Amino acid sequence: MERQCQVLIVGGGITGLTTARELLKRGADGILIIDKEKTLGAHASGRNSGVLHAGIYYSPGTNKARFCVEGNTLMKDYCRQRGLNIEESGKVIVAGDEDKLGGIEELKRRADSAGAESRFIDDKELSEIEPYAARNGKALYSPNTAVISPLEILESLKDELIESGKADILFDTSFTGLNGDHTAVTSAGKINFEKFVNAAGSFADKVAGHFGVGEQYKVLPFKGTYKKLSPGASHLVSSNIYPVPDLRNPFLGVHFTRGADGSVYLGPTAIPALGREEYGFLDDLSKETLSILFRDSVLFFTNDAFRTAAVSEIKKYTGGNLYKEARKLIPELKENDLIDSPKAGIRPQLVDWSSRELVMDFVVLTEADSIHILNAISPAFTCSMAFAKYTVDKLIG
Ligand SMILES: Cc1cc2nc3c(=O)[nH]c(=O)nc-3n(C[C@H](O)[C@H](O)[C@H](O)COP(=O)(O)OP(=O)(O)OC[C@H]3O[C@@H](n4cnc5c(N)ncnc54)[C@H](O)[C@@H]3O)c2cc1C
Repeated sequence: MERQCQVLIVGGGITGLTTARELLKRGADGILIIDKEKTLGAHASGRNSGVLHAGIYYSPGTNKARFCVEGNTLMKDYCRQRGLNIEESGKVIVAGDEDKLGGIEELKRRADSAGAESRFIDDKELSEIEPYAARNGKALYSPNTAVISPLEILESLKDELIESGKADILFDTSFTGLNGDHTAVTSAGKINFEKFVNAAGSFADKVAGHFGVGEQYKVLPFKGTYKKLSPGASHLVSSNIYPVPDLRNPFLGVHFTRGADGSVYLGPTAIPALGREEYGFLDDLSKETLSILFRDSVLFFTNDAFRTAAVSEIKKYTGGNLYKEARKLIPELKENDLIDSPKAGIRPQLVDWSSRELVMDFVVLTEADSIHILNAISPAFTCSMAFAKYTVDKLIG
C-alpha cells in the first residue's frame, strides 16, 4: 500500500528535524521524515565539533551570516528549555603567527556586520580566560560561542516530533527516485506527498538530481579527523581556542574544543576524502571514488584557491605537522599530550562545476512543491533553527 503524507522530508539530520519542527509550529500535520540509516546522527549532524558558533566568520550578505546569530540564540534557548547539556564557555581566536593579526581585524569587521558580539582582548585578559593560549598582543574573544551535545539535541527533537502525533520518522528507508511529480520511490515502498524537503546532507545533490534541480553542482568530500588531549593535559584548555582561518577557504582550521563531557578535542582536519562516507581509511570506496578523484584533479589544476587549500590542509595535518599547528595555539603542548580519537566526520563540500568554484554558502533551490537544501556545511548545525524558518517560508509561502 502506498503511504500518504503532507510533507515528506528526506534526511533526519539536524536540517530535516528542525525543518519538521518548524512545520509543526506552523500547524502542519502529516509530516514524514525518512532516513536511510538505522539510527540518528550517523552522519554530519552526529559527527561534528558540537560548537554553537557565534556568527563571526561569515561574509556579509551570506545565508551563513544571516542565520548564525539567530540560530545560536534559538538553539541555546532550546537546550535550556529542554534541560540539555550546554557549555556557555565562549571562545578565543588567537593569531599563532604575527602575520595573522590582520586576519583578526577582518574577523572583527565580519562579526560587527553580522551583529555578532565580539571584542579584542589583550594578553592579560587572554591569560585570564585561557592561561595556556598563545599570546601575540591581540586576540578576539567571542562570549556567545557555546558547546552542546549534538546527539542529545537530535534525540530531543525526534522525541518532540513523535510526541506531537503529527510527525513520524522512518529509519532504514532510502529515497531512490520519483514516480511522477508527487510520489517518492523509497526502499520501503512508494510515498505520496504534497510538499517535499530535501535535507539529505551529503547526498542532497543526488536527491535534487531526481527533480532536475542543481545539476551544475557536484560534491567533493573532505574528511575531518580529531585528536584528543590526554586527561593529564586537558587543563591546557578551559573553553575553546581557535586559530585565525584562511578566509578564502571554507574551513576554520583545527581548534581546541572542550566538550560538554569535559573531553578536549583537537580538530577537525580537512583532507580530501575518497567517499561521501569514508570515515575510516579507504572504507567507502565505491563507483564514485574515481569520479571524486577526477573532480579533485580537475579542481587542483583549474582553481588556485582549491589547490592552495588542498595542499596546505594536507601539509598541515599529516605526519607531525598537526602537532606543530596545535602548538601555534598552545605553545606548552607536548607531542604525547595528543592521543588518537575515533571521531571523524565528512564535509560534503559543494563545487559549482560551471565555474569550478567551491561554494562557500548554503544553497536553497526550489522546484514546484519541493525545496532542496544543498551545501549544509558548517555552521549549519548552529544555524538550523533559524534556517528552518526560512526554508518553511519558502516551502509554504
Ligand atoms: C567534522 C565536522 C565538524 C563540524 N562542526 C560543526 C560545528 O561545530 N558547529 C556547526 O554548527 N556545524 C558543524 N559542522 C557542520 C554540521 O555538522 C552540518 O552542517 C550539519 O550537521 C548538516 O546537517 P544535515 O541534516 O544537513 O546533514 P546530515 O547530518 O548529513 O543528515 C542528512 C541525513 O540524510 C540521510 N540521507 C542521505 N541520503 C538519503 C537518502 N537517499 N534517503 C534517505 N535518507 C538519506 C543521511 O542518512 C543523514 O542522516 C561540522 C561538520 C563536520 C563534518
